[in-house]
Amino acid sequence: MTTYAVAPELRDLMAAAPEPYLSVVVPIYNEEESIPHLYAQLTAVLDHLGHAYEILAIDDGSRDRSFELLRALAGADQRLRVIRFRRNFGQTAAFAAGFERARGEWVITIDADLQNDPRDIPALLAKAESGFDVVSGWRARRQDPFLSRRFPSIIANWLISRATGVHLHDYGCSLKVYRAEVVKNIDLYGELHRFIPAIASWQGVAVAEVPVNHAARKYGRSKYGIGRTTRVLLDLITVRFLLSYSTRPMQVFGGIGLLSATIGSALLLYLGYVRLVLSQPIADRPIVLLAILLVVIGVQFLGMGLLGELITRVYYEGRNRSIYVVREELNRTGPSKRQTE
Ligand code: UDP
Ligand code: MG
Repeated sequence: MTTYAVAPELRDLMAAAPEPYLSVVVPIYNEEESIPHLYAQLTAVLDHLGHAYEILAIDDGSRDRSFELLRALAGADQRLRVIRFRRNFGQTAAFAAGFERARGEWVITIDADLQNDPRDIPALLAKAESGFDVVSGWRARRQDPFLSRRFPSIIANWLISRATGVHLHDYGCSLKVYRAEVVKNIDLYGELHRFIPAIASWQGVAVAEVPVNHAARKYGRSKYGIGRTTRVLLDLITVRFLLSYSTRPMQVFGGIGLLSATIGSALLLYLGYVRLVLSQPIADRPIVLLAILLVVIGVQFLGMGLLGELITRVYYEGRNRSIYVVREELNRTGPSKRQTE
């Protein structure tokens, strides 16, 4: 095996390569037609901004030529870092991989399908720099079908606003700017990327919204259908729980359990009085079953609360877990100063 020494000029050049100010995270799943356009539009906007930047393209197990195209682009551009998943782990995992590797002070997320417009980035960034931790794009004139996409989205946004206390018109818009610490401090699971602003709100963040352009999908197909609605609803319950009670499950489950057990015990006491003191038969009264059920449920909920307390401790102590597996990475760099701080 031959080893090559790095030429001095090259070493100087590498040393001089600045830590990026911006990290753009792009999840990609079968977007071969869009990639060349996206790359051109994105780099045009970023070059114009004049900050040092990196683009983190996460190939989420594409089965088309997406990775080959990215490989070719990355070969000619060190600022494009490509992370290739072994299989399709989903958009949330792709974001998580990008967030973990991002070295910039600001992390920008954008879809690969050109539905978001890279030309909106400067306005979002300016808003963020004026003193916000999260700036979300708001697709005021969204170009998606009404019944299957926009209508469920209106309801979902309203519900999420109510449940999480973070008031945004458009949670689903991928075009967002985050202060790096914000996204580095959150754990993402399932499909929770839609709730990043809400999850981040737990840290105490300033959130703003900026209207952005939205185009209909030109190439390829959407990866989601109407089935997403129920998943978002279930995720909402999770997020609500994580936001308000995850560190004190006993208070939630224990509360319900105590209430149920108390009502059940009171009923049983009353029924015992009827049977023993008044000597009336109680076997034919349905309320007997209800009383027993309430006590059993109550005890179970209390047990769940205790289990929850144990799990919470494990959850907060067992760190460094990943929800994805990487196949290969191009233009990979070592851990940045910011990451190891
Ligand atoms: N995406 C991904 N993994 C998936 C599904 C989607 O990386 O499993 C990417 C996709 O390539 C696109 C973005 O996430 O860049 C948003 O997906 P899509 O456009 O299908 O969602 P929609 O705009 O229809 O809500
Ligand atoms: Mg899209």
